[in-house]
Amino acid sequence: MYDAIVIGAGPAGLQAALTLGRMHRSTLLLDSGEYRNGTVLHMHNMIAADGMPPSELRATARAELAEYDDVEIRDAAATSISDVEDAFVVGASDGTIVEGRRVILATGVADDLPEVPGLQDLWGTAAFSCPFCDGHEHADKDIAIIGAAPRAEHLIGLLGRIVASITVVPMGEAFADEEIRTLEAKGAQVSRTPVTSVEKVEDGVRIYTRDDERVVSGVFVAAGAMRQRSPFAAQLDVDMLESGCIEIDEFGRTSRPGVFAAGDLAHRATLPGPMASVLLAAAAGQLAAVGIIQSLLAAEH
Ligand SMILES: Cc1cc2nc3c(=O)[nH]c(=O)nc-3n(C[C@H](O)[C@H](O)[C@H](O)COP(=O)(O)OP(=O)(O)OC[C@H]3O[C@@H](n4cnc5c(N)ncnc54)[C@H](O)[C@@H]3O)c2cc1C
Repeated sequence: MYDAIVIGAGPAGLQAALTLGRMHRSTLLLDSGEYRNGTVLHMHNMIAADGMPPSELRATARAELAEYDDVEIRDAAATSISDVEDAFVVGASDGTIVEGRRVILATGVADDLPEVPGLQDLWGTAAFSCPFCDGHEHADKDIAIIGAAPRAEHLIGLLGRIVASITVVPMGEAFADEEIRTLEAKGAQVSRTPVTSVEKVEDGVRIYTRDDERVVSGVFVAAGAMRQRSPFAAQLDVDMLESGCIEIDEFGRTSRPGVFAAGDLAHRATLPGPMASVLLAAAAGQLAAVGIIQSLLAAEH
């Protein structure tokens, strides 16, 4: 039986496994290979790794973990979790069934993009959602925001001081006059007709609307939703927050004893949503690992 089974090997799960391995806690790390930033070529806003490809971060982390005898990594998906007395039984897609005294859910979230033809192909390379991650790369360039007016307004506030110009393009229906007035008052141009498709061009993204087209450096998406990547939060019946994320405390503890969570899929109730970043996911992974070590120590002594 492992001391801990970490499900998910993004920054949260990788860091959790490192902390557990360094404390000589036998740890199994399961990875199905579906990363939230899987299409991203360069990640930003990460000290000492600004601009590093996320794939390089994961490869480096795995190489570091290989140095720890107590950490085992398997490229397999967890398919089921159930609890037995003082332990958890996890089924994996490689046909194995493993047991762990504690579990960390670090399976992340998936982004459901609005249905704009071409948008999915641009996600992570020319279409983004987070100004902190991808805003600076468009400094002094023209960008577009596609989506709903309230979220567009928020993005204008963040991106307005970075980029040269912002055009807000509605989806589905044209904006109401009041929405146009509000967005223009914030300094944006507003397309009167909704987007019909987007495509990558050499110098950026071409956006087609019902009666117009324009080329911008990049697109920010102010619509869509995120959801839990795996079904385990629901299966384990842990308390959830309005954001759709798992409620955790300071040490990544969920409402279910022995089940911890870290990364984009979980946050404390005092936050409006997950602070989705590589650095903070890794920090949450470390806290959850510390939480597990404390709880194992409490059980052992
Ligand atoms: C387009 C885009 C650009 C971004 N750019 C940046 C950036 O520049 N800088 C930045 O800091 N952040 C950026 N982010 C945010 C960053 O990607 C996330 O905050 C971070 O990846 C969250 O880490 P995580 O470990 O919680 O989840 P993830 O990185 O999504 O990892 C989830 C892990 O769970 C695994 N998994 C899922 N289900 C199972 C299962 N059933 N069994 C086993 N394993 C499973 C996956 O394979 C994966 O290993 C970006 C996000 C997006 C969408």
